[in-house]
Amino acid sequence: MSTSHHIIHIEPLAPRKPAVGAPCNGCGVCCLVAPCPLGVVLSGRRTGACVALRWHDGNAGLYRCGAIVEPRAVAANALPSSLSAVSVPLGFALGHLARRWVAAGVGCDSTVEVSHAGETMPHD
Ligand code: SF4
Ligand code: SF4
Repeated sequence: MSTSHHIIHIEPLAPRKPAVGAPCNGCGVCCLVAPCPLGVVLSGRRTGACVALRWHDGNAGLYRCGAIVEPRAVAANALPSSLSAVSVPLGFALGHLARRWVAAGVGCDSTVEVSHAGETMPHD
């Protein structure tokens, strides 16, 4: 099995990625490595960080899906300016659809292995 390595830039206060199947803690790793199907549409690409990912500061910082927490802003960013008038209804629909498309509330399904800067990378 081949293994590929990517460097991602992640907030220092982001929680460490949990094991596959554990509750999602908003570590953001999956969305920083590559967008989900919805993120592909919003980002216009299949690789790299999703443009809809949002970092939330607070007592415990975490990443959240902008399609769920800021659907109007995400819709407006994804549309050409000539279609800005539909960003409000589209954002409303996006917020509802995103919860189903990204399987919010389901355990972590990302098999990405993470090594933080200064730590030893796992062997292939
Ligand atoms: S699904 Fe997993 S990798 Fe993605 S944000 Fe949640 S915990 Fe992190
Ligand atoms: S879950 Fe949201 S932020 Fe993450 S890749 Fe999908 S659309 Fe982007």
